Amino acid sequence: MIFPLSGRRIYVAGDRGMVGQALIRRLAREDCQILTAPRSIDLREQASVRGWFADNAPEAVIIAAARVGGIKANDSRPAEFLYDNLMIEANLIEAARQQQCAKLLFLGSSCIYPRMAPQPIAEESLMTGPLEPTNQWYAAAKIAGIMLCQAYRRQYGCDFISAMPTNLYGPGDNYDLDGSHVIPALIRKTAAAQAAGDETVVVWGTGKPLREFMHVDDLADACVFLLRNYSDESHVNVGSGQEISIADLAALIAGIAGFGGRMEFDTTKPDGTPRKIMDGTRLQAMGWMPSISLRDGLIDALRDYRARFE
Ligand code: GDP
Repeated sequence: MIFPLSGRRIYVAGDRGMVGQALIRRLAREDCQILTAPRSIDLREQASVRGWFADNAPEAVIIAAARVGGIKANDSRPAEFLYDNLMIEANLIEAARQQQCAKLLFLGSSCIYPRMAPQPIAEESLMTGPLEPTNQWYAAAKIAGIMLCQAYRRQYGCDFISAMPTNLYGPGDNYDLDGSHVIPALIRKTAAAQAAGDETVVVWGTGKPLREFMHVDDLADACVFLLRNYSDESHVNVGSGQEISIADLAALIAGIAGFGGRMEFDTTKPDGTPRKIMDGTRLQAMGWMPSISLRDGLIDALRDYRARFE
């Protein structure tokens, strides 16, 4: 083990988000101290971040803080997705260097890869072709974050690493239909159609795109594994290998929710990238495997939605 967590002060940046919450649940099982910053600390403000680091002296940092959203939010608010993410990661990475943090884990996303990258997408595909236009702003910021970690390793000897999770879902997801990703959107639309006695659920696009999904608790487990065991320049994919078409996903969610109506495909909405599955073999070769099936994960996500909103 390269970095034992026992007794460490670990700062989870982005603790109010779905990933941050999962990290806190997972780290609570370790003998470490979890630090979070109050809402008043705006991670886009350098002085604010620097002050918080000086006062709280974290020994390790996980960057789960980001401006995130689904295909519509990304496409319609490009400046926020680029600026906010650049500022958040740059401020946290620089503050971690100044504070001499022993470890930092930066989280990105599978959308960093070229739109037409060979599938499953290996780590080496980074910057080998044009990005998917609907999320290129977010992707550019996340690519900069990976490179910041690499640059800080080279120039300052910081043990900063990055992980790129596939599409995530789970408890604490964003269910706002304009901003959310496909799973929370379909959970909400299906539950609403059921409650209203509607016959149809509208699914964006053709239903043909393929996506890989991972429950956020699996990601949190992978993060703990990487913190402990990984120290190198290359970012590491965190994939589930569970790929499904959007149409089949909609049917699976309908089945779990007990919705007997029809799916209607709104082809005026974008499909986005045709296929996006990660090659997760590098992480698996290190000895980590996901453990939550898509079906079990969706049951958990639907339970979370109903508990929070019904
Ligand atoms: P992406 O993986 O970056 O494309 O992000 P999303 O999770 O937002 O979308 C994944 C796919 O699901 C795209 O092809 C969307 O068009 C499709 N999709 C179908 N219905 C919905 C919906 O209600 N909301 C969202 N966000 N996507 C949907």
